[in-house]
Amino acid sequence: MKLLLPQILLLYEKIEFFLQIKIKNKKDLIKLQMFIEPYKSLKKIFDDEKEALLYLISNDYVNKHIKCNKCEHETKLNLNKKLYVCRYYKCRKAISPLKGTIFNNLTLPLNTQLHILYLFLGKAPSSFIASSLQISKNTVSSYNKIFRKYLKNKQLLGNRNIKIGGRNKIVEIDESKIAKRKYNKGHKVEGAWVIGGIERSMLKNKIKNENKKMFLLPIEERNVDNIDLIIKRYVKKGTTIYTDLWKGYNNLKNIGYKHLTVNHSKHFKDPNTGVHTNTIEGTWNGLKQSIIPRNRNKKDIVLYLKEYQWRKKNREYNVWKKFLKD
Ligand SMILES: [Zn+2]
Repeated sequence: MKLLLPQILLLYEKIEFFLQIKIKNKKDLIKLQMFIEPYKSLKKIFDDEKEALLYLISNDYVNKHIKCNKCEHETKLNLNKKLYVCRYYKCRKAISPLKGTIFNNLTLPLNTQLHILYLFLGKAPSSFIASSLQISKNTVSSYNKIFRKYLKNKQLLGNRNIKIGGRNKIVEIDESKIAKRKYNKGHKVEGAWVIGGIERSMLKNKIKNENKKMFLLPIEERNVDNIDLIIKRYVKKGTTIYTDLWKGYNNLKNIGYKHLTVNHSKHFKDPNTGVHTNTIEGTWNGLKQSIIPRNRNKKDIVLYLKEYQWRKKNREYNVWKKFLKD
């Protein structure tokens, strides 16, 4: 049963009345409820492989019915073997219910895979997952990577040619280095360069924070030549673009955009024009918090960018169901 927001609020009112207490931050509690499936409702499937398979089947996360691909007859679930088996006595071909899903061909039992996924979605550190499930940290890392790749591919499939901005829209663009260590002047620091843009959505003259349209990409160093190409690909012509004074953005006016800047060596917000890029810079902070320094490298950065975008997009949803359903 899924409750709507007003119903949940009503529920809290009733709880308050019966217990004679005052619940503070109802909105936070609601967010907490919606963020992920409660652990106690999934405990059974984490403990038992058959339960895990039945859960995926009964919730339609994997195929409920499969026809035999050899003889077209119906198949029947053999729970002990964890396979669909053809009903035709001369055929009896077996097919995995997990065929075509991310869980097929992975070595750990399905219940453990789902448990790792649950903790991954809850942003648990790899070392925590490893010790609580008694599996090696390397195994956990490789599973986390598989989940991240899955999120990345899913977005690449669904998000082709989606440009942000448009006439009368503002897009903030900024570049940043996701560095391994704190940046010291004069020292080259390992890490990965990224560029990002966020469309501001205006609501009662305030910046609305949810479900922002954005793009995030890794870039090779701060290569000036690439910037025009990237922006043309991800931002609609005619958009008003806010950036800092970096020379990479010097050409934006010539390729079809309105361009306003803020001089970051002087202020965060231009006192005359009101231009600032705080929204995208907030994104860098969030991103840096979500990637531990060891993983801040050119090779893996795109996985983290896509994971970040997926979480951002789905932060009002139950990420457990979202991950399994899509
Ligand atoms: Zn068959």
